[in-house]
Amino acid sequence: MQQKSTQEMPDFIIRSTLGVSLSVILLMIPFSIISIIQDRYLIATLIMLMLLACGTNVWLGCKDQYHNKINLLGILVTAITAAISLYQLEVIASYWSLLLVIALYLILPLKQAWIVNIVFVSVIVPIAWHVLEQGIVLRFFSVLIGTSLFAFTSTHEIYKQYYLLKEQSITDNLTGLYNRSTLQSSLENALHQSDRSNTDMAILMIDIDHFKTINDQFGHDVGDTVLKKTGAFLKQSFRASDSVFRIGGEEFMALIYNSDKTDAIRVAEKLRKEFLQLPLISGHTISISIGVASLQAEMDWKQWMKLGDENLYKAKDNGRNQVVS
Ligand code: GH3
Ligand code: MG
Ligand code: MG
Repeated sequence: MQQKSTQEMPDFIIRSTLGVSLSVILLMIPFSIISIIQDRYLIATLIMLMLLACGTNVWLGCKDQYHNKINLLGILVTAITAAISLYQLEVIASYWSLLLVIALYLILPLKQAWIVNIVFVSVIVPIAWHVLEQGIVLRFFSVLIGTSLFAFTSTHEIYKQYYLLKEQSITDNLTGLYNRSTLQSSLENALHQSDRSNTDMAILMIDIDHFKTINDQFGHDVGDTVLKKTGAFLKQSFRASDSVFRIGGEEFMALIYNSDKTDAIRVAEKLRKEFLQLPLISGHTISISIGVASLQAEMDWKQWMKLGDENLYKAKDNGRNQVVS
């Protein structure tokens, strides 16, 4: 079993898109009016389209939503506006390119931003070369490329830190398994998938037997080592599609996809037997008890977990080191 990737699009992009869109609206309204007054209707129309895209983004952002296609469209319109302005107004319009490059990294996923940045620079450089004086064009290139690199480097670092923090926030740091934070959403996702595709699902509630005695007899550090090794054992015992959580001190839960009750019991029995063979503390055998709960129609996630807990308690009551379903 591997930890699932948390590399989906970061949610801070929704808020930075909202901020950039609001700023663009404030900045560009005067320029749209100036363009109309100066009879530059093509530019005025492009700025209106830009404002429309930004307005839509503000509306979506207020509802905590993000539509990548609108952003790409907004960027396309802005890039065309920057290119035409540079061509028509020369040096005084060159500054917009720098703002656009920074905005790319604030409103697009990093890889997309980097690709659009390269395309934009490749288009704007020949135009600048054509319209700007030699002394200015070299400085324009340097500042444009510098801005691109600085924006990429700083955003790349923000993404790295974001994914690291996100990973840490859902991981139990002793065992490397998932902690409780994603328990509910994982179970609800499994319920939805089971509804949609009629897939069998099961959970195994796993608890180390007499763990308190291990702590008392061998010390808390040895107890910690047992938990760490249990985590490593559970991680490699399940498939990549399954998820394993540490839900309490010495209590774990495995969520297994595509497993009916018979499969789940077989997996649990194999797990129980293999755990007994683990060389955790020399000269001392440690066992686990497992409560199996296969998902039944009309169950919600709490009822599903409750069934697993009840079966785990039965396994304990019946003498431990066993599977109850
Ligand atoms: P049972 O067989 O009924 O499950 O008994 P048990 O002793 O395993 O269960 P109990 O709930 O009585 O005790 C659990 C112990 O786990 C008590 C607590 O001190 C210990 N524990 C909880 N978290 C940790 C931890 O992170 N490290 C260590 N070393 N011990 C922990
Ligand atoms: Mg226990
Ligand atoms: Mg317990």
